[in-house]
Amino acid sequence: MRIVVAGGDGFCGWPTALHLSNQGHEVTIVDNLSRRKWDEELHSNSVTPIASLEDRVEKWKELTGNEIKTFIGDLNHYDFLREVFRQTEPEAFVHFAEQRSAPYSMIDREHAVFTQQNNVIGNLNVLYAIKELAPDCHLIKLGTMGEYGAPNIDIEEGYIEIEHNGRKDVLPYPKQPGSFYHLSKVHDSHNIMFACKIWGIRATDLNQGIVYGLHTNETKMDPMLVNRVDYDGVFGTALNRFLIQAATGHDLTVYGSGKQTRSFLNIEDTVRCVQIAAENPADKGEFRVFNQFTEYFSVLELAEKVKKIAQEKGLDTELAYLENPRIEPEDHYYHAVNTGLRELGLEPHLLTDEVLHDILQTVIEHKDRVIKENVLPSITWK
Ligand code: NAD
Repeated sequence: MRIVVAGGDGFCGWPTALHLSNQGHEVTIVDNLSRRKWDEELHSNSVTPIASLEDRVEKWKELTGNEIKTFIGDLNHYDFLREVFRQTEPEAFVHFAEQRSAPYSMIDREHAVFTQQNNVIGNLNVLYAIKELAPDCHLIKLGTMGEYGAPNIDIEEGYIEIEHNGRKDVLPYPKQPGSFYHLSKVHDSHNIMFACKIWGIRATDLNQGIVYGLHTNETKMDPMLVNRVDYDGVFGTALNRFLIQAATGHDLTVYGSGKQTRSFLNIEDTVRCVQIAAENPADKGEFRVFNQFTEYFSVLELAEKVKKIAQEKGLDTELAYLENPRIEPEDHYYHAVNTGLRELGLEPHLLTDEVLHDILQTVIEHKDRVIKENVLPSITWK
């Protein structure tokens, strides 16, 4: 298939582009390289040294013979996006290209406005480009499990049957997100659902859990293909952040009680989930929703797991309980359904001690790159 991977220079997009290319798909990456610029703004970096996008795709071609075309530009520039569609005629458009940090979106008004403009307008442009230039193209959009929040009932996959005053309907599952970033994803979901209804677009919203790990079969093929790994208080996600803290002798910073429960998946499953969605497209007019995660843990459970394997490696690792910079329920019910992708063949890579040892070993190799002042949270929700 001809597949565009927007955001293909990022943490999830890069390994996904390689994986799809390795499966024989004709892959094009679109990215405006803004994630690299946000590192400059925050005086931060990836723990692993990442090559330029140009060098990455050149190395991939040298190793496999597969060409990945690249377009450097912004989804917010519609003329640019239109040109991408004209030249690539995509059958699937995988959309990772958004500002994805909740703390970044909560820095101040400018960052909240930027996040919602970048994400909501970029996604709206993609919907118009599909309508105008590739009406059969399947949109595969990365949403997040954070769209749902933590309701006191089971979280379904996108929809819930409601009985009210003696009548029944299947309605979109209620969303209670916890940051202006997460709200941008909810707005995206609404826009996509509406576009499916009025224009007959086919779309899959992948409500992804928090992704951990860094290597996939393809990124392991050469050091030039290594994936980025974020650890700072703004872009670092739980688990990867704990592993890097352990590697650098920093206490594992648990926010609040640590009882907050979230859903997780290995990056190796992210790439496979996107492949499954692409090869099993939604029907025309269908707004399909999958919850893309494999397990859930409380933040404290994760910190305890990391502490155990770090101590096995001889590292002196302790937990530090910080005042929670976020406003969120800490002690809550959490149970979410994730059967859609499993039914289409996903075989999960679970979070074993071996997996944790593996990631820890890689970050230990690069620990001298960590800028220690960036590890603690610096942004609050108040
Ligand atoms: P990332 O920041 O590493 O990658 C996003 C990429 O998109 C970057 O390379 C960036 O330069 C590019 N980009 C951003 N705005 C753009 C624009 N307007 N035009 C063109 N390119 C643009 O993020 P990631 O961790 O790879 O996440 C990818 C997607 O998956 C995001 O939409 C995110 O919301 C979603 N997601 C990620 C996680 C996670 O744990 N990483 C969890 C759930 C959902």
